Amino acid sequence: MGKQRFEFDRLKILVLALLAVMVLLVSLIFLGRKEDRYQEFKSVSLDNKNAGETLQDEFSEADVILALHYPQFSDETLNQLIKDHVAAIRAYQGEENDLVFLDYESMKSFDQYVTIRFIEKVYDEQIKLKQTNTSFITYDMKQQKTLKIEELFRSDYLVQLQTMFNEIPEHFQIEEQGIRCFDKDGNELGLFEYANHERFIALKNPQVPSLAYKGDEEVEKMTIDPNKPMIVFTFDDGPTPEITKRIMDAFLAAGGRATFFELGNRMEAYGDLTQMLYQHGFEIGNHSYSHANLSVADEAAIRQEIYATQDIAYALTGKEIQLVRPTYGAVSDLMREVIPFRMINWNIDSLDWKTRNKEAILNEVLPYIEDGSIILMHDLYDATAEAVEAMLPILAEKGYQFVTLSDYLASTETK
Ligand SMILES: [Zn+2]
Repeated sequence: MGKQRFEFDRLKILVLALLAVMVLLVSLIFLGRKEDRYQEFKSVSLDNKNAGETLQDEFSEADVILALHYPQFSDETLNQLIKDHVAAIRAYQGEENDLVFLDYESMKSFDQYVTIRFIEKVYDEQIKLKQTNTSFITYDMKQQKTLKIEELFRSDYLVQLQTMFNEIPEHFQIEEQGIRCFDKDGNELGLFEYANHERFIALKNPQVPSLAYKGDEEVEKMTIDPNKPMIVFTFDDGPTPEITKRIMDAFLAAGGRATFFELGNRMEAYGDLTQMLYQHGFEIGNHSYSHANLSVADEAAIRQEIYATQDIAYALTGKEIQLVRPTYGAVSDLMREVIPFRMINWNIDSLDWKTRNKEAILNEVLPYIEDGSIILMHDLYDATAEAVEAMLPILAEKGYQFVTLSDYLASTETK
């Protein structure tokens, strides 16, 4: 009996021990499995990670499991953008035990542009893919900012993108051959090559084929007092050696600016004058290429006259002209349809082209000046320069500011 009892106890202990070992084994297996479950998300391959010094791996388990991989750069502004992006992903609010996995691809081109393509995948508890989000950071290391579509492509040529891809792309990767375009979901649309598309490209790196002016773009701006009356002097048909500079100097002496509606073919001949005006904070407008009467021209001729002029000014200043002064002040319905820029005439005609006389010009202008006057003149004649030199001090004395047409229009829109 005693021996039986002893044997029974031994058996009991043995069974218990076995059970304990089994529990331990099972839990070890379970724990091990749990560890394996996320193993593949804890590291990522280095394929297509061609920019960024350090790969940041982050893994955490709370209600939601986060496995986040992202790059770091020597550029702190870019790092902050990445941090903000990752923080938004980290804040994911989903179901318990969802897994958020962030991977990325990165590239640097022309030693200036960085594109990071983030691929975010959300899995459920069974590690079944629930959703994928793709997002991009397209960054300019020289300007230390993200690039908007209008800094990649010249705005008025977006239509070209639309014809190529049937839609306006949403995301961009700057490559050495061209700009790779993606739709809003991150699906690739195709490569917009630089070759043969130079005039559509707005990137200002000297290695990127484009028309953009790649020199210094510092512009001397005037300070405008929104409460003081403003008048706008506009000069058509230039630039002209001697005269344009004389007029410019008169405005600078009076602390003012003006708008010059230039001809494409004159800018071609006297580009240094266009640049001089632009750099001193004067506005360049479009007055067609050859002073053709666009109101009687067909669509192809209108386009050619307007866009040739846009391209010349863009190459000289790096800025897209915003305003068109129609030749002869004449506007047709076709022009309204074809020209995407604002067309604007005047409300005081100095008749300088007709009288070419300083006193006559003063008499045509001074009595009619009021807040918001837009005066038509031509930087072609000595008499015009003389009249400007005479009238600016008189008008400044009366409290008028001399502003560019765009600045004036902007001020009326905010009033
Ligand atoms: Zn004209």
